Amino acid sequence: MMVESFGPHVHGLRCRECGREYEAAPIYTCEWCFGPLEVAYDYAAISAATSREKIAAGPLSLWRYGDLLPVRADAAVDLGTGFTPLVRADRLASELGLGEVWLKNDTRNPTNSFKDRVVSVALSKALEFGFKVAACASTGNLANSVAAHAAHAGLRSYVFIPADLEQGKVVTTAIYSGNVVAIDGNYDDVNRLCAELAGLYEWAFVNVNMRPYYAEGSKTLAFETAEQLGWQAPDHVVVPVASGSLLTKIQKGFQELHKVGLLDEEPQVRVSGAQALGCSPVATAWTEQSDTIRPVKPETIAKSLAIGNPADGYFALDAVRSSGGGFAAVTDDEVVDGMRLLARTEGIFAETAGGVTIATLKRLASDGVIRPDERVVVYITGHGLKTLEAVAPTTGPTATIPASLDAFHAAFDLEENS
Ligand SMILES: [Zn+2]
Repeated sequence: MMVESFGPHVHGLRCRECGREYEAAPIYTCEWCFGPLEVAYDYAAISAATSREKIAAGPLSLWRYGDLLPVRADAAVDLGTGFTPLVRADRLASELGLGEVWLKNDTRNPTNSFKDRVVSVALSKALEFGFKVAACASTGNLANSVAAHAAHAGLRSYVFIPADLEQGKVVTTAIYSGNVVAIDGNYDDVNRLCAELAGLYEWAFVNVNMRPYYAEGSKTLAFETAEQLGWQAPDHVVVPVASGSLLTKIQKGFQELHKVGLLDEEPQVRVSGAQALGCSPVATAWTEQSDTIRPVKPETIAKSLAIGNPADGYFALDAVRSSGGGFAAVTDDEVVDGMRLLARTEGIFAETAGGVTIATLKRLASDGVIRPDERVVVYITGHGLKTLEAVAPTTGPTATIPASLDAFHAAFDLEENS
């Protein structure tokens, strides 16, 4: 059997601010202007190497898009991440007065969040560079994923989290038996410590020195969406915003597909951002029509989105503005209502971030920003079992009764055979 090889078709790294180029190395900021570095591809080589047929014959994981990723797919750290279901959501759409709505259900990844995408790319690259230790600063989902992928790859791991994380995220990280370091502070404190540690140890910090490669993993959410829609881009996407990286990479993913010839028409995807009111620095800049993202101290149940000083906040804001999308900042009550609405109408249990995204969909639909004539894709990024605390106090049995027909009939006043 002929096995075709995938990627990498990479020139190196390029500064997003000044355009200076660097060799592909574990670095993340420009020496000249301190701008963020991102991967620079040889798009002509990708165009020549890839095709819809080759992708269709590839693995049922994100590695089917190996030609568009900055790592060697044949040596990937692979737990089976990606190619998650794109679910048509007619009941949710009709409840919100919308037309064609789809849910990209990334709760179905190996550690039940989209972070498996970025981590499998980052740790595959870490192995190429020869690192022996994986590390990250995390609001929870990234911690789960780094611990699991490090275990699978035989890497040691150090995972740094805020001490007040949900129990579901702490246990599902610690079970993989790497080092879990709970920091007495919020995510921005954790992140600051990790930036210092990254300068001291030869570790692959997935969201620090590996960040240019790591961030590319998020593009696969756009690749899969387009392929699952029959190689078409949607009209509108709704994406939760923490650091802002996911939103910008989803937009970039659709554009790249056109650039390498996998989408016939240039995509015109309106991109909308979702934040929780208790941590909404990007949504606030949107509302105030400002270019400045003012850092905030997070106070929300949507802890996976609780980044008060988002690294890619400006780029996310720019993506929403330039694409004609919108932004919403929703209350914690709306978040819980959003989780319930999604579960009740579509049978999908999302974590609080998913509640933020569904509540934003609802808000932007009622404001007329998202229209009934649009094909909308909503990104559900993490599983509800990770944040049981959010709904547990108000969710339980419909009735608790003795094991007798009389008790059942007393509790449920039903006609026979109904
Ligand atoms: Zn620069």
